[in-house]
Amino acid sequence: MSVTDQAFVTLSTDDVYCQGALVLGQSLKNHRTSRKLAILVSAQVTERMRTVLSSVYDDVVEVNVLDSADTVNLALMKRPELGITFTKLHCWTLTQYSKCVFMDADTMVLCNVDELFDREELSAAPDSGWPDCFNSGVFVFRPSLETYHRLLQYAAEHGSFDGGDQGLLNSFFSNWATTDISKHLPFIYNLSSSSVYTYIPAFRQFGSDAKVIHFLGSTKPWSCKYNPQSQSVTEEGTALGHQQLAFIVLWWETFISSVLPLLAEHENTGDAG
Ligand code: UDP
Ligand code: MN
Repeated sequence: MSVTDQAFVTLSTDDVYCQGALVLGQSLKNHRTSRKLAILVSAQVTERMRTVLSSVYDDVVEVNVLDSADTVNLALMKRPELGITFTKLHCWTLTQYSKCVFMDADTMVLCNVDELFDREELSAAPDSGWPDCFNSGVFVFRPSLETYHRLLQYAAEHGSFDGGDQGLLNSFFSNWATTDISKHLPFIYNLSSSSVYTYIPAFRQFGSDAKVIHFLGSTKPWSCKYNPQSQSVTEEGTALGHQQLAFIVLWWETFISSVLPLLAEHENTGDAG
């Protein structure tokens, strides 16, 4: 059964993050999601990359900060630090869908997670740094132009306490922490690979149930060097733990088996003739 009015949504503002988005999309497909896949891209994403994206994603939607010059946008343009935040908010404009799950391009699913669509806006998992805030790398939402404009208005008036989308969304959906426990996704739906080490016994107990891994922070899988022969990650400067490395290897395995062939295919089409 396929559900055409619900989608997983991600965002990529450049070709580098697209590598993550392709792994995410393929991980959802490999685990047989019955939902559509949509990606927001900005003008910087190359035509070639868009072609590859459209072989994985049902919808590749270009979003541009400068396109719609209403007063709220102008106010936001005075805050360049909110640029990426602004771009993420565009997910609320995908009104061809009735319900969506946003996932950062640095996440991947380890199993089918379609049950997330049983949840309501705004459902998300706690942030490991401050658990009364939700982490905005994975969240359930309902596209709505009204909500979109209210979010823009809020951003223009109040900014974001962390300079990013997470601060803004937590202020806007400020009753998340206290009002409805069904909107708290279990941590296994947004397991930040770096937080594994802050509570090792819990990871030993529950880690094997992980459903979504999130490569939060500055070390992204695509910025690590990977040796496919030895199936190992060459560390450079960063001290990554054993478990973090294992997740990065998993990301690379998906990249090599499911994404590289697509990229190679389009290299060839470009060369032909
Ligand atoms: N993103 C992007 N381009 C950027 C930075 C971020 O497209 O230059 C998107 C991408 O989907 C990414 C999300 O915004 O996953 C949030 O950023 P990131 O994952 O780097 O933040 P973290 O989760 O590490 O806090
Ligand atoms: Mn992220």
